[in-house]
Amino acid sequence: MSEHFDAIVVGAGPAGNSAALVMARAGLSVLQIERGEYPGAKNVQGAILYADPLEKLIPEFREEAPLERQVLEQRLWMLDDDAYVGTHYRAPDANVAKASRYTIIRAKFDQWFSSKVREAGALVICETTVTDLLRDAEGRVTGVATDRADGEVTADVVVLADGVNALLGRRAGLRRELKPSEVALAVKETMFLSEDTINQRFNLKNGQGVVIEAAGTITAGMAGTGFIYTNEDSLSVGIGCMVSDFAESRVRPHFLLERFKQHPAIAPLLAGAEIREYAAHMIPEGYYDAIPQLYGDGWVVAGDAAQFVNSIHREGSNMAMTSGRLAAETVVAAKAAGKPLTAKTLKAYRKALEDSFVLSDLKKYRRLPRLLEGNKHFFTDYPKLLTRAADTWFRVDGTPKRQKEREIAGTFRETRRLRGLVGDMLKLGRAWR
Ligand code: FAD
Repeated sequence: MSEHFDAIVVGAGPAGNSAALVMARAGLSVLQIERGEYPGAKNVQGAILYADPLEKLIPEFREEAPLERQVLEQRLWMLDDDAYVGTHYRAPDANVAKASRYTIIRAKFDQWFSSKVREAGALVICETTVTDLLRDAEGRVTGVATDRADGEVTADVVVLADGVNALLGRRAGLRRELKPSEVALAVKETMFLSEDTINQRFNLKNGQGVVIEAAGTITAGMAGTGFIYTNEDSLSVGIGCMVSDFAESRVRPHFLLERFKQHPAIAPLLAGAEIREYAAHMIPEGYYDAIPQLYGDGWVVAGDAAQFVNSIHREGSNMAMTSGRLAAETVVAAKAAGKPLTAKTLKAYRKALEDSFVLSDLKKYRRLPRLLEGNKHFFTDYPKLLTRAADTWFRVDGTPKRQKEREIAGTFRETRRLRGLVGDMLKLGRAWR
């Protein structure tokens, strides 16, 4: 591979595909390198796809992309060991052309996205791992080394979209090691059921979907959440917690998933489903303070490799697509202006991210990791208090309602004391600001 390219993109996930698509469409010569057998082969996601960032790149995606179901209903559940309280939002029966969220299967979706990148003119090579960054005497990134024989290739800029492990950036000294408190480990099973059974169990018509996000004692005192997403004829069922919590508790992720699946509120939804796939993957959850240097001489970083995940809202792929697009637009603009792709020029990428929801949202929740790290009672005491309160409130047993209110308030005070309750509300308020 002796050819020189305008840009090399490492990784064919949503960040890499967005970057490669924009640059190839602008007429730049683009080489995209993916280590998987095909794009999506190595990728794990729940997965909810957000229409907005994809629509900006491929407005007609709804007619072409392999979408499973439009997300019609969102359920948020707080579970204790055998009950739950929750909220549900069901949107009007939107038609697919208007839906803003869809469930997808990443292996299928990434291959479709990659076909668009190829159509735009990029050269996409799979089953090739980028092993290192090439640098000149001044330290400027000039290309990549791969695991292929004769595998060095040069470019004016390298877009690092290699996902959460971000090994290349670490190896090249462009970023520090992730702390266990900045990354979650999630496990997921794909469980097959007929389309009709899913429709009946979740109260859906064909093409409509439900997503359930669950928190509470299901994570055994660790900071994390579980989920169930409806696909056309399968369910994505998973759970994830912070790596630092897994290390401390020594609880195994698979044990958590099994327990989650056996919860009395969950088990009937999964009954009879056949497990055909099992996957585990990390999720960057360090928010704003864990974001590494985003650009330098001859390189930019996008997506999970840049720590762009908002786990509170389960958003990652949208941040990946947006950051990939913005990185590419920065490169295209610099090239058009005849500027060298130095740190000074590529700084505009950081500015574009700051002006977008990506850095704005990650900054908004920057206190969240510390809140969850030091306040595990949000995952233990509160789910129990809430389900107990619901049980007291809804039980018709001749107790006057005023007495019920006093009982509920009493159990909250007994468990957290007044000072603890006020402190928790203040902490939550501050983390949410
Ligand atoms: P990735 O999708 O990880 O892609 C990186 C690519 O780079 C991979 O294809 C990999 O094989 C390749 N690669 C890595 N190293 C090299 C190398 N050295 N050489 C060549 N190729 C390399 N987000 C949502 O928006 N909605 C959800 O519902 C959701 N659910 C999730 C559920 C789970 C269980 C997990 C783990 C994540 C979830 N996310 C979700 C987050 C989302 O998956 C990520 O934010 C998104 O995939 C990031 O895209 P990316 O392109 O940055 O990285």
